[in-house]
Amino acid sequence: MAGRFAPSPTSDLHLGNLRTALVAWLLARSSGRRFLLRIEDLDTQRVTAAPQVAARQIDDLQAIGLDFDGEPVWQSERLASYPAAVGRLDTYECFCTRREISEAASAPHSDGYRPYPGTCRDLTEPERSERRRRRPPAIRVRADAAVETVTDLWAGAVTGVVDDFVVVRNDGVAAYNLAVVVDDIAQGVDQVVRGDDLLTSSPRQAWLTRRLGGAVPGYAHIPLAVNAAGQRLAKRDGAVTLTDLCCAGVTAAQVLTRLAQSLGLAGPDEPVTPAILLERFDPALVPRAPWVVSAER
Ligand code: GLU
Repeated sequence: MAGRFAPSPTSDLHLGNLRTALVAWLLARSSGRRFLLRIEDLDTQRVTAAPQVAARQIDDLQAIGLDFDGEPVWQSERLASYPAAVGRLDTYECFCTRREISEAASAPHSDGYRPYPGTCRDLTEPERSERRRRRPPAIRVRADAAVETVTDLWAGAVTGVVDDFVVVRNDGVAAYNLAVVVDDIAQGVDQVVRGDDLLTSSPRQAWLTRRLGGAVPGYAHIPLAVNAAGQRLAKRDGAVTLTDLCCAGVTAAQVLTRLAQSLGLAGPDEPVTPAILLERFDPALVPRAPWVVSAER
């Protein structure tokens, strides 16, 4: 049994990410699970700074007192595990550009995701070989518009229609939805805690988990952190990373207090440790609204 935190090394973790990590840690530890760290660096393999960003993310998580079992797992070191999983699925090549999909697809979902309209699903072999000459294909899984319902700890039942989503991108790299499922199965993860921007991806991922012979994990999607204007928290909102806050004279311990206070687990300026928070933690009391962060400037 294990929970995990799985950041992508695109930028330093901000207060919202650190809070999600804290909740993931609390849920794992309060249920006797191991807690794993996975660096989801498939998209950033060509970004020179990504390993340094990941190293800072790990340092920041440790600075607020979170501990992990085992060494962090890097997806870029697991590239060999993804093709075998793809080989077990019913898939087809897709030659569509983003633009073709947006022109052919129905309106995007509320999260911006455009379900695939199935344009390349039934191409003949001559059609495919003709298209291959113009464009390398992505690989999609044939989902036959399956309907999948997952149970989220806070959102309850979430039902989604599973479209023929991409499992291998057209640069040959495993797509996020595939890698996350393959890795969660391989690492024995049965508790997925993350930001609620990924809530609508969970029916897709649960369906794929079952397809690959895994047990669907429990999901817990936490509302995101937002700025005073209600927009998703970002670097431009001021001092929102540990590095920036430390430059402004705020210690990692004070940041932990602030995160804990936002979860109703500590009073203002009350010194706490993760162990103390664990004694107080009750999943039922985690706030269901976005966390409004007034950043220090
Ligand atoms: N790597 C994803 C992110 O940073 C999280 C994926 C997950 O937790 O399933 O948004």
